[in-house]
Amino acid sequence: MMNLSHLEVWFVTGSQHLYGAEALAKVAENSQRIAASLDAEGAIPTKLVFKPVLTTSEQIRELCREANNARNCIGLVLWMHTFSPAKMWIAGLKSLAKPFLHLHTQFNRELPWSSIDMDFMNLNQAAHGDREFGFITARLRLPRKVVVGFWQDADTVAEVGTWTRAAAGWHESQNLKVARFGDNMRYVAVTDGNKVSAEAQLGYSVNGYGVGDLVDRMNQFSDSEVDKLLAEYRDAYTIAQQHDRPDSLRSAARIELGLRAFLEEDGFGAFTDTFQDLHGLDQLPGIAVQRLMADGYGFAGEGDWKTAALVRIMKVMALGMKGGTSFMEDYTYDFGGIPKVLGSHMLEVCPSIAAGKPSLEVHPLGIGGKADPARLVFTAPSGPAVVASLVEMKDGFRLVVNEVDVVQPDEELPNLPVARAVWLPKPSLKVAAAAWIYAGGAHHTSFSQALTTEHLEDFAEISGIELIVIDEDTRLRELRRQLR
Ligand code: MN
Repeated sequence: MMNLSHLEVWFVTGSQHLYGAEALAKVAENSQRIAASLDAEGAIPTKLVFKPVLTTSEQIRELCREANNARNCIGLVLWMHTFSPAKMWIAGLKSLAKPFLHLHTQFNRELPWSSIDMDFMNLNQAAHGDREFGFITARLRLPRKVVVGFWQDADTVAEVGTWTRAAAGWHESQNLKVARFGDNMRYVAVTDGNKVSAEAQLGYSVNGYGVGDLVDRMNQFSDSEVDKLLAEYRDAYTIAQQHDRPDSLRSAARIELGLRAFLEEDGFGAFTDTFQDLHGLDQLPGIAVQRLMADGYGFAGEGDWKTAALVRIMKVMALGMKGGTSFMEDYTYDFGGIPKVLGSHMLEVCPSIAAGKPSLEVHPLGIGGKADPARLVFTAPSGPAVVASLVEMKDGFRLVVNEVDVVQPDEELPNLPVARAVWLPKPSLKVAAAAWIYAGGAHHTSFSQALTTEHLEDFAEISGIELIVIDEDTRLRELRRQLR
């Protein structure tokens, strides 16, 4: 999968002509230093590109037009080093189609108390210049993130970096193509929805393909190509003797070859399938889906295109970070001790969240009536994570997020033939599950041990979708009021 270093965020400083050429030269010099410093920060995964200081309405409009047309520009960081009368920004901001972050900083960390004079005061007046700019963004009700702090401080840089990842997720969402093999699982409500609304609001397109088209593509691979992939499986995973069933593994490998080719050839970034429509496949895709997810594809089962797209977008947002991101489902509970969730799926959990070397196993599947599918089995490592669900309500999309702590299972799970993660939801299972259910969150989620609520909060702001966060501060009464 690619990284984010080819993407650009433009660093744009606003000012005006009142101050004279000397002051403007200083503003440009300082801005350039800040942009270069942020560009060099590891916590900001994209390029940060300095743009000349803007001093007129015309320049601002022109810059916004340029940003709209720049394929690799995913957003702007805006800062008013000095005062920049904000009526100058109205036309530009109204035409801007890229997300922006308002950085409220100052070139100097400390005030030079003993030497400060009016020249210094006039040059370093973001304290009120950014308030003027803030007014117009609030007045125009523009989606934005405001970050306050000294530009060299780690927390300031981290907040900019987080937003940059959300902007990269948004950029991905504008270009994402989702392939559905088969339709929605029959009668299921939450996985269904309006694909036109999704494309209009989130940018990604979702289209259906016959499973037969996939089977055709699978059958174009030779037996030796299949055997070569099987050898790769043997290198990468542990295979116990009772699971070493070459026919079943070969058939799984052929599915992977076909799926991968199908997705690559038409530029898909995410896909779904359903166990109710597998004509021509002898088993439900298991390891194939798992390995494609590990390579960055979004996926969700049962035709759930919203979760498949969300998994992909979150994987892009998390590129280069420690911790994996996977399709997940709240499967069953442990009400003993501190109540917790056992998360898993029938087969399709991404090995990017495997704590150790996955074991490749072949087991019967209780539903679907097909041959025994091959799947990777493993357990997720302990640590903080988020689960996120995008649902479609009557008046638009809603993103429900729960912060959780992944823990290790209380005991070994010798009879559980699927990959899993065990977690303690915040603030408790009792409150979190009630809040989730009140909010209409799905049973399917995108689970990430890389991203935080802040990434998703920034993404929701950029996307203009409603966000419901369930964390350690959640109180049910407040949450229910918020939902009403
Ligand atoms: Mn499911």
